[in-house]
Amino acid sequence: MSRIQIQAATKRFGAVTAVDEVTLDVGDGEFLVLLGPSGCGKSTLLRAIAGLAPLSAGRILLGGRDITHTPPRDRDLAMVFQSYALYPHLTVERNIGFPLRARRRPRTEIRRRVTEVAQALDLDGLLDRRPKELSGGQRQRVALGRALVRDPGAFLMDEPLSNLDAKLRTATRSELTGLHRRLGSTFVYVTHDQVEAMTMATRVALLNQGKLDQVGTPTEVYDEPASVFVAGFLGAPPMNLLPATVAGRDGALHVVGEDFGLPLGIFADLPSTEVVLGVRPEHLTRGPGLRAVVRLVENLGSEEVAHCTVGEARVCVRGPRPLGLAAGDTVELTAAPERLHLFDRESGRRLR
Ligand code: ATP
Repeated sequence: MSRIQIQAATKRFGAVTAVDEVTLDVGDGEFLVLLGPSGCGKSTLLRAIAGLAPLSAGRILLGGRDITHTPPRDRDLAMVFQSYALYPHLTVERNIGFPLRARRRPRTEIRRRVTEVAQALDLDGLLDRRPKELSGGQRQRVALGRALVRDPGAFLMDEPLSNLDAKLRTATRSELTGLHRRLGSTFVYVTHDQVEAMTMATRVALLNQGKLDQVGTPTEVYDEPASVFVAGFLGAPPMNLLPATVAGRDGALHVVGEDFGLPLGIFADLPSTEVVLGVRPEHLTRGPGLRAVVRLVENLGSEEVAHCTVGEARVCVRGPRPLGLAAGDTVELTAAPERLHLFDRESGRRLR
């Protein structure tokens, strides 16, 4: 059992609260991705799970056992770092076998495990090489191999793909997903790359300034962001966010002073009238609603993105090429009511 329970975990560095009362339950066999912008505390939370950044408050349980004060090497966890942290003077074979030698396992066992792991990761032809004689992708696999060799209960990974070029990163993403499926182990994976999160995670945990903002499947966090922060973080370009007012008892929606031209009544009974309207660029279409001026159209190959302004606000439209929009056009944009997201302007939390 490798369930990881994080209970009100807080980590302070002097005046900085890097992780702020995070409570999160990572199920046995999950691929949980910690996602958020630079400095949001995701590495610190991962290091706390590993025991490399002792908590200021709160608890961490692994398989039901409290490991809050257990030294890193006695936790049944393996960490893979962004830098790979390979030993430059050791061969691939000795790098992979290192954790077992450090634990004084018998030589025959070490040889057997290293062979198994090298085969699984397609490294068997490279066992005599040193790290400097390997490509970035191969080094990354050696780092994984060193984590795998102990057969740990859970893997902790800190941006392990960030040193790879775009093509290799895509290939390694599917390798990692496959590895996770074969091993059935628990993965906790840190990244600021939403594509990695969306493609690999069973669940995504979004961190904002040390606080957990939302946890859910990739589909849930994309389709029903719990806050303005999540809405504005996910998507490329991210969700359009516009200050809006819900006016009158019938709930007409006014955006930047204009009526959004939606059936009246659908926004009645909201707890607040000052809201933020969210709509994804791929859900905006031509139609009576917001008057927008097209400023720039980008060709992405199969799709186009039109950057527009609505009053002072910026709005993006994304869709298959050709979008039929050109710089300088004045157009009207609308969206199906079920595609609209509303957030409380004060708290940033989702209203509907
Ligand atoms: P990145 O993606 O840039 O690595 P992150 O989300 O992983 O960012 P952390 O590295 O966890 O963020 O840092 C969270 C906050 O804690 C930041 O404000 C950072 O400056 C601070 N911090 C992290 N480590 C230390 C430390 N050892 N001493 C002081 N402050 C630290």
